[in-house]
Amino acid sequence: MSLFNFKKTKSPAAPIQATVPSHGANQGNDLASLVLSVIHDGVVMTDRAGAVQFMNPAAARLCGLSNPNDAIGLDSILIIRIETKEGRELSEAENPFILAIRSGQTLKPYECNLIVGQTDKRVPITISILPADETGGNRVITFRDITEELKEEGEQMEFISTASHEMRTPVATIDGYLSLCLNPQTATIDERARNYLTTAHAASQHLGKLFQDLLDVTKLDDSRIRPNFVPAEMVEMVKDITKDYIPRAQEQKINFTFGADDSASVHSERKLNQVVYSYVDPDFMREILDNLIDNALKYTPSGGSIYVNVRGDGDRVLINVTDTGMGISSDDLGHIFQKFYRADNSDTRTIGGTGLGLYLVKQRTEAMGGQVWAESAFGEGSTFYVSLPRLTADEYEKRMIPIRNQKMQEQLSTLQSAFPSQPTTTITEQPVPAMPQPISSQQSPQLPPVPPIPQPTQISPPQPNPNINNNLNGGNV
Ligand code: ADP
Repeated sequence: MSLFNFKKTKSPAAPIQATVPSHGANQGNDLASLVLSVIHDGVVMTDRAGAVQFMNPAAARLCGLSNPNDAIGLDSILIIRIETKEGRELSEAENPFILAIRSGQTLKPYECNLIVGQTDKRVPITISILPADETGGNRVITFRDITEELKEEGEQMEFISTASHEMRTPVATIDGYLSLCLNPQTATIDERARNYLTTAHAASQHLGKLFQDLLDVTKLDDSRIRPNFVPAEMVEMVKDITKDYIPRAQEQKINFTFGADDSASVHSERKLNQVVYSYVDPDFMREILDNLIDNALKYTPSGGSIYVNVRGDGDRVLINVTDTGMGISSDDLGHIFQKFYRADNSDTRTIGGTGLGLYLVKQRTEAMGGQVWAESAFGEGSTFYVSLPRLTADEYEKRMIPIRNQKMQEQLSTLQSAFPSQPTTTITEQPVPAMPQPISSQQSPQLPPVPPIPQPTQISPPQPNPNINNNLNGGNV
């Protein structure tokens, strides 16, 4: 977590107990073998084709092999199998380890889970690949079990989270009483006291916000928070979340439309009453859309427009949140998804924010195998795109089988407890098919070119109503 820059505790190296030869022709080799045999890090050397030439005992242990020699000559990608640190399966095309082995390129330390042998066991590791010599033929793979580090990080997060949570309560009390002091209906104070208390009130509010930010950051960086995937119809899901924003849009006199036919930004397939399926975490989806729509409302002045849309885009589901607000300069555009980044201009300075919202959006989207990006120009509005792996109707139906079975089983159990004499029926679970393979965030997105941001004047509301139109029926989605 970069905010605090905690020093990670490395697992201590095991004490070397073997006797080191003091002389002899192969002293260097002996020492190297000794070191490789006692260290806790896995070390593997492969040839140009990725076949294992050498494996140390730690690597064998981590990979679930009883003897390092069992791996000699085998393809390293069969021995070292990884998934994302969130527990998501990686296709060959997006697996950075396989890509580096096949291309002979360096792999910078990459955090992921190691799949131990043919078991369900997963070990969190960082893995890297370096060329063993200048010719780039042999490669050295190193990987390290980071279970302990993650545990310590989790404990630190928990401490910060508890501490900020506990400290928020007295700060809220101070804040409340200062508000009472400053309210002429509840307290009488002279002008000088008012000035002092106003300063104290601003500071207490700042402190409260700081604690809230600390809480948010601990939640964001908590690697234990994993997506809870469910098959979902995306148009309905997004529409459902979007409708909560109607009152606020009306209050701000902003034209807010779901599924608007803003053809200027439509570049992919678009059908009437289109249904698009994906495999997502509904809570993550809410966090993503809450932040994007909240930003659109924050950075769009009265009289502006916001469009939210969902559509199928080949094997992806594409969601866009478009606004005709203040836009983002090209200098800022490359940084807005970084933690605590806020565009520095006179408008953003007057609008409250922490610079955490888009960081969260990116984190949550990528955890579901998706990608997020923005198109904008200063003064000309912005469009934020979220692209997620798409399920076909068949895949959706297959994934729904165990969920429906479980629901039926629950209903049956309820019935059976109400009528205990009825015979017991069990619904057999169908196997769930493997997850669709999303495009890696490390690859450049294979998505169609994104159209330019519509100029405020180019975006026409879907209904020619001169008053504010908050249309969530969405017309054409
Ligand atoms: P904040 O809490 O500052 O809104 P975010 O991470 O959500 O933090 O956004 C980072 C920065 O990106 C914002 O400070 C703002 O400068 C810019 N930004 C985000 N969304 C929009 C938008 N819809 N229009 C204009 N600027 C935006």
